[in-house]
Amino acid sequence: LQSKLPNVGTTIFTKMSALAEEHKALNLAQGFPEFDCSPDLQRLVDKYVRSGKNQYAPMPGALPLREAIARKTFEASGREYHPVSEITVTSGATEALFVAISTVVYPGDEVIVFEPAYDSYVPAIELSGGIPVFVTLDPQYDYIDWEAVAARVTEKTRAIIVNTPHNPTGKVWTAADLHALAALAEAHDLVVISDEVYEYIVFDGLAHISVSSVPALAERSFVCGSFGKTFHTTGWKLGYCLAPAELTAEFRKIHQFLVFSVVTPFQFAVAEFLAEPEHYLALSAFYERKRDLFNDAIRDIGFIMKPSEGSFFQNVSYANLSEEADVALAERLTREAGVATIPVSAFYARETDYKTLRFCFAKNDDTLLKAAGLLNKAV
Ligand code: PMP
Ligand code: GLN
Repeated sequence: LQSKLPNVGTTIFTKMSALAEEHKALNLAQGFPEFDCSPDLQRLVDKYVRSGKNQYAPMPGALPLREAIARKTFEASGREYHPVSEITVTSGATEALFVAISTVVYPGDEVIVFEPAYDSYVPAIELSGGIPVFVTLDPQYDYIDWEAVAARVTEKTRAIIVNTPHNPTGKVWTAADLHALAALAEAHDLVVISDEVYEYIVFDGLAHISVSSVPALAERSFVCGSFGKTFHTTGWKLGYCLAPAELTAEFRKIHQFLVFSVVTPFQFAVAEFLAEPEHYLALSAFYERKRDLFNDAIRDIGFIMKPSEGSFFQNVSYANLSEEADVALAERLTREAGVATIPVSAFYARETDYKTLRFCFAKNDDTLLKAAGLLNKAV
């Protein structure tokens, strides 16, 4: 059989989690919380399972959840997405991204991807016959050179994928970035696919600016979100996609035959939980404290690092400490120090040598402190 994805193997997240398990290492690699979701949310799932919400949800999602998503989006960005025609509940952001890409990309179309990039974008583009065109950024980049981005646009460019707050760098895009994106997308009639799964995790008083808050972008964008990050429920694979009705209609044709609908009682539970904004608005402070705890604990190691601005990842460069390639170092630290991380080269299509590791700090405080102690001894 000829592979449709010849360049794809097992994801780095699966690999590093397996290696962590094998060596009983602390897993600061794969991005998932070590702690559980709210007991109130668990009780809501139980309530809806017991009250018979166990058959297929409507294809676009349970209406109360779509209404709750519309409400929270309006509060955050001022954009009114219609629950009936513009909001679709998906199997995680992964499905939302895959379907959005499949909806717009035809064979031969070029899609602009900023790298380092989350690993699901490129295979989705390639399965539709599209061609990823990379804008390469340093893992600790200071700003985006929008002229360089514009230089990558050709008459074949169909879409651009953006991600803020960003995995793995923790960068949060500025209003100027969003406006530059809008100008570029309008000038070249590009579709924007915006991965905003870390929308509620931003630090140091910065704000997440959704593409949905910029009218010129909202009208040409698929905005993809995930409750996995927001409610510590990555295993539920519950996400959503916001897009104008015309785009949503085409998106749903693919969603309908990929999964039809997603897990019913969890949708009702999340809909009810969303009624209390504190359940998601407290998340930034929660993770900012963890970021600071971890960063303070590893400070003396001497990594070169800028504090993460958002997401639950901290990148560190060890270029001043070691010549080792990041994959080799990540594997060695897992085996010898008992701390698993993600080598950031995994987020680049071509070979790179940025000597950068990604730590996930969505872990219990004692795990973060223990990991820092082990790293202090090993590095
Ligand atoms: N995009 C980014 C940037 C992510 O970090 C993740 C989660 N690892 C996803 C998408 C996928 O989200 P989900 O688990 O809801 O499919
Ligand atoms: N998004 C998570 C991360 O970046 C991993 C998700 C996955 O394992 N596919 O670590």
